[in-house]
Amino acid sequence: MLEISFIPAFKDNYIWLLTRGKRAFVVDPGDAAPVQARLEAGGLMLEGILITHHHADHQGGVAELKARWQAEVYAPGNESITGCSRPLSGGESIDVLGQKVTVMAVPGHTLGHLAYYAPGVLLCGDTLFGAGCGRLFEGTPAQMSASLDSIAALPDDTLIYCAHEYTEMNLRFALAVEPNNQALQARVAKVAALRAAGLPSVPLILAEEKATNPFLRCHEAAVVEAGLQHAASCLLGHAAQQGTDFEDRSKTAIFAAIRSWRNTF
Ligand code: ZN
Ligand code: FE
Repeated sequence: MLEISFIPAFKDNYIWLLTRGKRAFVVDPGDAAPVQARLEAGGLMLEGILITHHHADHQGGVAELKARWQAEVYAPGNESITGCSRPLSGGESIDVLGQKVTVMAVPGHTLGHLAYYAPGVLLCGDTLFGAGCGRLFEGTPAQMSASLDSIAALPDDTLIYCAHEYTEMNLRFALAVEPNNQALQARVAKVAALRAAGLPSVPLILAEEKATNPFLRCHEAAVVEAGLQHAASCLLGHAAQQGTDFEDRSKTAIFAAIRSWRNTF
């Protein structure tokens, strides 16, 4: 079995380290230095790099690591990724240290964004976060909503390894959307204790996200009502705001309303 641990980078990034014995892969190495330090400390050999999307905090260390290790670089085929040697698209499978890994297309944060899935494990970059989701820099609400649906369809006990520690901040927003959600209240206390002890809130558990993450709950009555109310209050403030229909209760419309609310929260 693969072992998974994290290498902290920048302010709140997690670079995931996958190992089997002394063989290693890293996911989204935005910075080479902390990766190199960990490889040396563990006597590890870097065989491959998985990239979820093109942002600098996810691929900034690739050139340096590739020059040092000649590692294979797996990345979205339709994004500009330094040193990509294995361009990928959704639906393919690849071999990671003897483990079959399925490539999922999850557009939204960026158009080519990929996630990597093996039974029990999802590496999802900036698509899903603890109690939140990535900003829509390139994709549409419909695309992101569909990407989140494909993640929500995975087994409930799937552990989700996202690329940032944003859970505590996201939970404050989630509570504004669903103040009466008891699972959410319990999670706020749990994550506060973890973070106070200096521990990560990641990996996430899919079942817990489905119970507490507003972006996976756009079909729930409380989230629908909160989303519609927010969209309506925006309309009152900006009578000419385009594209917002506060009668539209579809999952995509509610997702769009919640996502734009989060942007200004
Ligand atoms: Zn990003
Ligand atoms: Fe990022």
